[in-house]
Amino acid sequence: MNALDDVINSLSRLPGVGKKSAARIAHHLLKSDQSVCERLAHDITVLHERIRPCRICGSYTEEELCPVCQNPGRDRTLLCVVEQPQDVQTIEAVHEYAGLFHVLGGVIAPLDGIGPDQLRLSELIARIQEGEIKEVILATNPTVEGDTTALYVQRILRNLNVTVTRLASGLPVGGDLEYADRLTLARSFRGRSSF
Ligand SMILES: [Zn+2]
Repeated sequence: MNALDDVINSLSRLPGVGKKSAARIAHHLLKSDQSVCERLAHDITVLHERIRPCRICGSYTEEELCPVCQNPGRDRTLLCVVEQPQDVQTIEAVHEYAGLFHVLGGVIAPLDGIGPDQLRLSELIARIQEGEIKEVILATNPTVEGDTTALYVQRILRNLNVTVTRLASGLPVGGDLEYADRLTLARSFRGRSSF
């Protein structure tokens, strides 16, 4: 084992990076100027220090509140519920949705030992009880766990004075929001339906 192997091994543990890609990146870094490596190492090192969850929605931010929660131009009657912070980025990139977000922080997955208690559901209910939100759009992934979670959330919101909708089908079944193309995602927002 040498330093090059160490980098290849570390990179190949990342999602979507196979052994070949890891080797290509590592060799590229070695050929690059040392400042490129230092910059990359620095950017990764400060990630945990700088990024934290938004106090309101749970999305990633460097401040107390994320840019969406801070933006007075957002429609505060619409709340889109997603699994992970990266889903917020995916939906924001489509420029179709102008409301607010709520990140659950996962999905109900009994086989992985993840129950409703581990999701940000009490925070969700508290936000709805403030009274400004009129519609909750469930945008969990179209997977078994995502659908189960959407049904569960719909049930716990039933007695609150809010309309609950689900993104229209057309998203790849079993896939993740991040793999949906922009047009499909935009369409599924426009064609969302009530439970
Ligand atoms: Zn936020």
